[in-house]
Amino acid sequence: MSRVLVVEDEAHLAQGLRFNLQAEGHEVEVEGDGESALDRLLDAAERFDAVVLDVMLPGKSGFEVAALLREKKNYVPILMLTARGRPEDVLQGFASGADDYLPKPFELAILIARLEGLLRRSVWMRQSAGSGANLAASESSQVGVQDAGANRATRSGQDPGQFPAPTSGRDAAGYSSSAERRRASDSFTFAGKAIDFAELELRSLGNTIHLTVMEAELLRYLVRSGGRVVSRKALLEDVWGLHEDTDTRAIDNFIVRLRRYIEEDPARPKHLQTVRGVGYRFVAEPE
Ligand code: CA
Repeated sequence: MSRVLVVEDEAHLAQGLRFNLQAEGHEVEVEGDGESALDRLLDAAERFDAVVLDVMLPGKSGFEVAALLREKKNYVPILMLTARGRPEDVLQGFASGADDYLPKPFELAILIARLEGLLRRSVWMRQSAGSGANLAASESSQVGVQDAGANRATRSGQDPGQFPAPTSGRDAAGYSSSAERRRASDSFTFAGKAIDFAELELRSLGNTIHLTVMEAELLRYLVRSGGRVVSRKALLEDVWGLHEDTDTRAIDNFIVRLRRYIEEDPARPKHLQTVRGVGYRFVAEPE
């Protein structure tokens, strides 16, 4: 059984989610504002396997809650509820550390599917944290849930996963193979660093950075583009499936973060290069 925190101030919606997620076999807690949600999520005595986080909350917004959690190195999977037709919300959500999003109003079945996707993902991360010596960073927030893990992971073995639609084709194989095979096939090494796309980790000597799903997908797309220049628009469309009239500069925040992870001097990037007026390019071995 997974333990889910629903953070939503509209009582009828929160109760509806509680009821339906409980019916799916989850243990559900509800908080109506960002501050109380943070208190609980950062309380070492509590553990949650996932958070359904509304953006519009009294006091601290969902964006702030997500950003503060990540700042405190809490990587509990976050499904963010955004306003429909506001792609900038989606981007801000990802920028603040959300793992997935769903525009309101949503279909309950879709929410449940997305949530299950996040839960499966965190089960994999925990399992490989147990078997891999250098994966210690698969984070305190996800410790102690092994019992739920075994069953779910077995089930997910046949299931290619609901994870963000735009990348599903490419991911299907990785999701259905064993952790070992994923590790072998879904990673990329350059300049003394290893990106493990399946485990959402970037490892360099003595350091492991935990990536959000969206950071990992963006990085993968850039890496797989093999040195070609990719436009911001293509990144938005191909990586995140955002076709609406989005401010493409929103992508720049992500690039800034990725550079902090992979560049020796983020102000003078060697790997993740800006091509002025066009977009970005990833170069594994700069001259
Ligand atoms: Ca709300």
